[in-house]
Amino acid sequence: MPYGRQNISTDDIQAVIEVLRSDYLTQGQAVPEFENAICLKVGARYGVAANSATSALHMACLALGLGVGDVVWTSPNSFVASANCALYCGAKVDFVDINPATYNLDVDLLEQKLKNAKINSKIPKIIIPVHFAGRSCDMKRIYELSLIYGFKIIEDASHAIGGKYLDAYIGSCKYSDITVFSFHPVKIITTGEGGVALTNSSRVAESMRLFRSHGITRESENFTCKHSNDGDWYYEQNFLGYNYRMTDIQAALGISQLKSLEKFIFERENIVQWYNFNISSLDIVLPIISPDVSSANHLYVIRVKQDRSRIFRELKNSGIGVNVHYIPIHLQPYYRKMGFRYGDYPNAENYYEEAISLPIYPGLNLQEMVYIKDRLLESLGS
Ligand SMILES: *Cc1c(COP(=O)(O)O)cnc(C)c1O
Repeated sequence: MPYGRQNISTDDIQAVIEVLRSDYLTQGQAVPEFENAICLKVGARYGVAANSATSALHMACLALGLGVGDVVWTSPNSFVASANCALYCGAKVDFVDINPATYNLDVDLLEQKLKNAKINSKIPKIIIPVHFAGRSCDMKRIYELSLIYGFKIIEDASHAIGGKYLDAYIGSCKYSDITVFSFHPVKIITTGEGGVALTNSSRVAESMRLFRSHGITRESENFTCKHSNDGDWYYEQNFLGYNYRMTDIQAALGISQLKSLEKFIFERENIVQWYNFNISSLDIVLPIISPDVSSANHLYVIRVKQDRSRIFRELKNSGIGVNVHYIPIHLQPYYRKMGFRYGDYPNAENYYEEAISLPIYPGLNLQEMVYIKDRLLESLGS
């Protein structure tokens, strides 16, 4: 029993087989179809699929003009990719500590940090809020701060496809420049590896498409060189891009998986309700639900007041695939070398000391949930 896993149907398998029998394994019709299907689902104008969310975050930063001398702020309670994307561009990273109740970047602390940054004229170019566990950050307030202080916003919604914020699906980019989803198998829907960057700006979308494929354009209106009349084979590279393309094999799986999104979200919500109702112990803090947020419930994190290592080990030894999300990014040796230290973000550090992610995925059955609950309460002595 892992903490998260994919749920693959016979329709999913059939969709992949069809691509394998077709003419195009990559650069065919499945990728634009997948991009359109996601846009339609979440209410964004443009989608640019990539071979991972990490690549999508990198393309997103590049398209917003991030470079040497710039700064990005994000949450320390995230996967390292949320911060690494800034480093790929030669920019610097800084963090805003989390809210101790939501485990998301704390907007009061953000506002305070922006006030201080303004005095030193070190306003970040981009802020990357992470919708931890699938629960949206307070995007309206972050957006309002962006209007005052002039930063861009990339939502790292790797956990959050299918979640909602104020009646709109996460991904609508109503309060951001770009939103990124991940399709890694532990996430809500999967393409094996994969991600997408959504935006409502045609210029940003076009820029991300160019970065996705070597910085190469085949559109004659973008040509700048005198050889542009050479013939139909002609293409032009005007800046340095990458090969971050998603294959049609992956996209076909994604199109099929997307059809199950509501079902997956419903199942995850039921698991959360069951855990919330059945796991009660004075020694556990359960996740909170905010009224203006409907979580995609990627993770179910409890905080334990007793020795976390012991409880984790006991659950693991009982065959329960617990995990911990996340080791604060600033405590990674690579980030410590940049000068970050223990004590810099106490909320994220205190949270980390107590956190355990319990298994949650579509297909986790009642018998397994009862087993998890019994072993957990046994471990806590309650
Ligand atoms: C999984 C994850 C990523 C990276 O996603 P990949 O598709 O594996 O590259 C980035 N940010 C967060 C918060 C994630 O959980």
